[in-house]
Amino acid sequence: MIGIFGGTFDPVHYGHLRAALELKALFELDHVRLIPCAKPSHRSQTAASARQRLEMLRLAVGNQQDLVIDAQELEREGYSYTFDTLTALRQNTAQTLLLFLGSDAFNQLTTWYRWQEIFDVAHVVVITRPDTVLNSLGHFFKKRLIDDKTLLKKYNAGGLFFQEITQLAISATAIRGMMATGYSPRFLLPDAVIDYITQHQLYKN
Ligand code: ATP
Repeated sequence: MIGIFGGTFDPVHYGHLRAALELKALFELDHVRLIPCAKPSHRSQTAASARQRLEMLRLAVGNQQDLVIDAQELEREGYSYTFDTLTALRQNTAQTLLLFLGSDAFNQLTTWYRWQEIFDVAHVVVITRPDTVLNSLGHFFKKRLIDDKTLLKKYNAGGLFFQEITQLAISATAIRGMMATGYSPRFLLPDAVIDYITQHQLYKN
């Protein structure tokens, strides 16, 4: 099985990195693919450019083998749709795909492009995130609920699973706010990423 962890990563922080590593171990994955979004369709523009966000991811991951950076959305024209990304991955591998979504992202899922068809190509695993209350589940989701992790391996796609992970109340929004006001975000994200932000004068008002 392969894990897919998409995001704007504006910037990447330990909330993302710790989650990805824990999920890799919990689901005994080959690896987790971190996929930066080029042009998000469901939110306002990013503060850093796609190339800068990719570079920060590279600095954060270093030579950690468990996490793979996948820049496919940056190589495509137009909006970055998760459905397209999963379909492209599906064409290249027979492995089961697990799409990881934080609870805030999952609450928005029904607004995503071809969201129902995402379940034709992958399982969706929702990870807990501090300060986010899950919306109540509609019929579409309820009938896909899986409470036994081993079933994810048995079926190739279509399941919905909820996974608790270590709660880290870190968000990119808060980090951008700290950088803008000159308050140090140290220990919320890797030093190499902070150095890059400072060097390129990102997230200044
Ligand atoms: P922003 O504050 O700009 O919205 P973010 O910190 O939520 O950014 P994203 O890149 O938007 O980061 O998130 C990518 C994915 O990682 C989403 O599924 C999100 O729910 C999840 N995620 C982000 N931060 C955490 C965290 N601290 N714990 C668990 N999941 C997280």
